[in-house]
Amino acid sequence: MSNAETKPVEMRCGGPADDEPATEAVRVDVLTSRDVPLGGPRAMTVRRTLPQRARTLIGAWCFADHYGPDDVSVTGGMDVAPHPHTGLQTVSWLFSGEIEHRDSLGSHAYVRPGELNLMTGGYGISHSEVSTPRTTVLHGVQLWVALPEEHRDADRDFQHHAPEPVRTDGAEIRVFLGSLAGRTSPVRTFTPLLGAEIVLQPRAALTLAVDPGFEHGLLVDQGEVRLSGTLLGPAELGYAHPGPDALTLTNESDDIARTVLLGGAPFEEEIVMWWNFIGRSADDIVQARRDWMEGRRFGEVQGYDGAPLPAPELPTVPLKPRGKRR
Ligand code: MN
Repeated sequence: MSNAETKPVEMRCGGPADDEPATEAVRVDVLTSRDVPLGGPRAMTVRRTLPQRARTLIGAWCFADHYGPDDVSVTGGMDVAPHPHTGLQTVSWLFSGEIEHRDSLGSHAYVRPGELNLMTGGYGISHSEVSTPRTTVLHGVQLWVALPEEHRDADRDFQHHAPEPVRTDGAEIRVFLGSLAGRTSPVRTFTPLLGAEIVLQPRAALTLAVDPGFEHGLLVDQGEVRLSGTLLGPAELGYAHPGPDALTLTNESDDIARTVLLGGAPFEEEIVMWWNFIGRSADDIVQARRDWMEGRRFGEVQGYDGAPLPAPELPTVPLKPRGKRR
């Protein structure tokens, strides 16, 4: 997915380190989403929880868009023309619908519910994403992972993985990245990371062992879910600070609840993120934008019917780094 804001701003998000002593209680901050139109004739809207002023990163997870369930006959579905990425990986995860992916590595793939599609941009890649004609309801998440400095220029890559669900304690868990509930995804990450879909039966309560060195984010898609004492509603992201070795998820509703659990070791590098690019300096961003607009570095997407997306104008104020902890 492309960041479709017409005037993407860079947020100043540094702050004090998480150096408070670990306590028994799980500290959870509730992050609400903001609506961002994705562009296109009828402008499908996504709910963005990362980045935001209160929090820019959860581990190396640096971007979280949540959308649907959308009737594509009303919203027009997804049609994101070829656009570039650098310094990051994109994670596509659907609950329903289907998206056709094409990239400048030559990948042509269909993103389907319950199947991870992970694209590594490395130094530069471009791709298009279009919901298919057989899609009636589009519903899912689009997530980005920042690459650490030593792998920032990793080779372009595209991986697919359909995790076997784990069924336990009234829950169905699909671990697409990292380890949880006795399952480990075979998909390689460049920093310690967790990504899993967790569906809870009505009123089910589930306690999961987690890495105490990780910070976690629980995105609620559907239902009312209590995360270790803090109630979260649809489209909210509960941020659990590092420290606890277990998290408890309780479905407080009489319907199925669906969530996505993200986690990772705190990402200690400062990054500059603008539009679809991640760099370490404003110069990195300016160079990436120039390379895209002048047709270098990001390759070409074959088979998309239409012109590539132009980059927005750079802000007139200097780009500032974000991250190290907050
Ligand atoms: Mn994209």
